[in-house]
Amino acid sequence: MASSTKRDYYEILGVPRNASQEEIKKAYRRLVRKYHPDICKKPECEEKFKEINEAYQVLSDPEKRKLYDMYGHEGLQGVQTQETAQTVNVEELLREFMESVPFDFETIFERAAGRRRARRRSVRGEDIFLPVEITLEEAYRGTTVPVEVERAVTCRACGGEGVDRTSARLCPTCGGRGEVTQNFFFMQVRQTCPTCGGRGEVYEPCRSCGGEGFVLQREKIKVKIPPGVRDGSKLVVEGKGHAGRYGGPPGNLYIQVRVKPHKLFERRGDDLYLDVNLTFPEAVMGTEIEVPTLDGEKVKVKIPAGAKEGTTVKVPGKGMPKLKGGGKGDLFVRTHVDVPKIGFMDKLVGEGRKLEELLKELQELLPKPPRVRER
Ligand SMILES: [Zn+2]
Ligand SMILES: [Zn+2]
Repeated sequence: MASSTKRDYYEILGVPRNASQEEIKKAYRRLVRKYHPDICKKPECEEKFKEINEAYQVLSDPEKRKLYDMYGHEGLQGVQTQETAQTVNVEELLREFMESVPFDFETIFERAAGRRRARRRSVRGEDIFLPVEITLEEAYRGTTVPVEVERAVTCRACGGEGVDRTSARLCPTCGGRGEVTQNFFFMQVRQTCPTCGGRGEVYEPCRSCGGEGFVLQREKIKVKIPPGVRDGSKLVVEGKGHAGRYGGPPGNLYIQVRVKPHKLFERRGDDLYLDVNLTFPEAVMGTEIEVPTLDGEKVKVKIPAGAKEGTTVKVPGKGMPKLKGGGKGDLFVRTHVDVPKIGFMDKLVGEGRKLEELLKELQELLPKPPRVRER
């Protein structure tokens, strides 16, 4: 080749003409890390790498460097150049290279070391979350709710492998050996065949599952909901989530319970609150009333004389069942005093008029409380 077209070796390595051997070595390493064909896949890098090697082979050898300094490229005509620069420790370079490259080298080394990792790590299946709405009565008694979930289940045709074993043919990459030899940096390494994963055979994907290893299946599941379940509770049905992969266990089915608000009862923890209306005389004199409960029976409740707005009367053991420890919460009857409204028309005729007269009479008889309450 015409030496006049060749670039200057010092220029190639980017070092001054009086550079020390150490400086030349450093520059070379830096360039190798950038242009080595195992690192840079661009075609121009390969050319560049050759050029760098050639320059280094000359400049790292004091004899050749002297010739080059005196006579330029011509001075080296007929001088044997070696394939690989001897003064560079390959392992050392490799380690430096690994430290300088930001991707995961461990995986490459695992492969380089020929570890047979054909078996993949088992993965637990994903969980399924399903909301279920029940009434407060159902929460009181406990219930069984039928739910329908679409679950990924292991494909029966392929046992979850995702391949059709009957279609086995020799792996075209490794020819059945299960290993391939690759050039890795300056070394030749054997590694597990990436095509067949070391099995030596390749298969068509399973036709039932399209290679996924599982199929979606609708399944009806009866979920038992315990008495006393709270709104927002999460119940677990173990193993009824999606199928695992590579032998992993299935996920769980989580039932998110929503207890619908009740028309009559307000729930606070395990206690229930029921609001009742009292007439003014009932509030004044006290009374016995009958109230509904969640178990369907009615209970009699004594309202003490002088009940006010918001007075609570406790009915023990008539609340919600306790999830832990058994027993039940309490029922609280909360009183409200119904204040009659006498409309304009009612004042003139009938019961409205009578009521007004009675109230006026009552007003005369009632003791007068202080207008402003003391704290
Ligand atoms: Zn399958
Ligand atoms: Zn193979």
